[in-house]
Amino acid sequence: MTSTLDETATTPTDGGVPELTHWIGGRATPGGSGIYGDVTNPATGEVSARVPFASAEEVLDAVAAARAAFPAWRDTSLARRTSILFRFRELLNARAGELAELITAEHGKVLSDAAGEVARGQEVVEFACGMPHLLKGGSTENASTGVDVHSVRQPLGVVGIISPFNFPAMVPMWFFPIAIAAGNTVVLKPSEKVPSAALWMAELWREAGLPDGVFNVVNGDKVAVDGLLTSPDVRSISFVGSTPIARYIYETGTAHGKRVQALGGAKNHMVVLPDADLDLAADQAVNAGFGSAGERCMAISALVAVGDCADTLVGKIAERARGLRTGDGRRSCDMGPLVTKAAQDRVSGYVDAGEREGATVVVDGRNGEFDADGQGFFVGPTLLDHVGTDMSVYTDEIFGPVLSVVRVDSYTEAVDLINANPYGNGTAIFTNDGGAARRFQNEVEVGMIGVNVPVPVPMAYYSFGGWKNSLFGDTHAHGTEGVHFFTRGKVITTRWLDPSHAGLNLGFPTNA
Ligand code: NAD
Repeated sequence: MTSTLDETATTPTDGGVPELTHWIGGRATPGGSGIYGDVTNPATGEVSARVPFASAEEVLDAVAAARAAFPAWRDTSLARRTSILFRFRELLNARAGELAELITAEHGKVLSDAAGEVARGQEVVEFACGMPHLLKGGSTENASTGVDVHSVRQPLGVVGIISPFNFPAMVPMWFFPIAIAAGNTVVLKPSEKVPSAALWMAELWREAGLPDGVFNVVNGDKVAVDGLLTSPDVRSISFVGSTPIARYIYETGTAHGKRVQALGGAKNHMVVLPDADLDLAADQAVNAGFGSAGERCMAISALVAVGDCADTLVGKIAERARGLRTGDGRRSCDMGPLVTKAAQDRVSGYVDAGEREGATVVVDGRNGEFDADGQGFFVGPTLLDHVGTDMSVYTDEIFGPVLSVVRVDSYTEAVDLINANPYGNGTAIFTNDGGAARRFQNEVEVGMIGVNVPVPVPMAYYSFGGWKNSLFGDTHAHGTEGVHFFTRGKVITTRWLDPSHAGLNLGFPTNA
């Protein structure tokens, strides 16, 4: 049988590769649908495991386990809940290297980058360890005569998380530490391309002492996603992925009465003004354009060179890009492969199209030398100059190591370009002019902005999220917005009788 998703789906065979599971009710649960996908090591092209794709019934099993665990978990004291989070943090600190290796083996990013992803996820665990403080409500004595008012925030119940391939650990960790600390129970559906990190983290939760059923993982495709979107027992959906799917998730989830935050794709611009330090700008353009092979939603894909700095800047970026080593992320390389053969073909196809449409290919990653064995899915760093805003390399999210240089004459033209773009995830300006930077942060219609910082991913205690087609819903991830998303408010008005109690009054309550 085939799955409803893409090229990874296979029928079961005795191919000798390990078979992964789901994680339901505190146990590894073998798949029962008979549908599997291949998990591939992108650096070698070898199939490393088979992942089961959950049927609708299996999703309901996971939701039922989470629902059964909810009453006891929400009534568990905050002190006990957070002590489990602290243990999870300690275990993760001790074993972060293992998780990074798993990520590299399935995603392809280099080990140091995978370790960085784990560290950024860990920050959210640490933020969620402060949940007792974050959940404190307000209290007013004597709001009316003899009447007190206080507010509390309570967990939603079962929450669903659906994550993309490019951050197998960090993106789920944007959500589940906060959800769990706030008293919810979780069903996570990771990307079918990188399922092992989620299963590894489920085992870590068990070791940390999390009660069975509080954290569940269902692997799979659209069937699993739709099961979560339509189940009446799932109260919210936190989704991260491409824009068309994010829109679908938002529309379907809200139509089924759920609270939804759906983070979508991106096209991030980096503006370089003529007064900028061009060496710093070139370093950062390379880091942000080619780190993780461009498979980051905060990657810089369009470099907007303002005025007469363009020739020098392109030269400096080209020199740096040519010096990068691309290969197996387990070796000492700067950049790994793309996640699948389909991704490799898609990215190369965009470079072909850019060249056909008139862009100058300054550095060509289509046929480079790669430090890897086997048939990995490599495209080296690619730099395109003289890119026009009507070319597909500019209009589409490529999600690969392709940096497009667009030349403009003025700051205003640069800002107009960004504001006309349908995405609004991240952007950066490079300048030594504080006034220009201040104007930029005020005028640009984007959710996350860097000033001489190319990948401005907010710390865990701020919230992560874009504008426009980069986020559907109105709540960003983690920080206080995350706490708000995973809880709902109640206001309690209290009067305890005392000798001044004053009999009947049918008027509307006022603050008398
Ligand atoms: P994707 O949209 O293909 O998949 C995301 C999730 O949706 C996966 O779990 C997948 O199994 C599921 N899915 C795929 N097709 C589906 C369908 N037809 N119906 C229901 N579910 C479906 O995204 P991806 O390729 O895994 O990740 C890359 C994308 O994610 C890029 O567009 C990137 O910009 C975006 N992203 C955004 C952010 C952000 O914070 N805005 C962060 C990371 C990644």
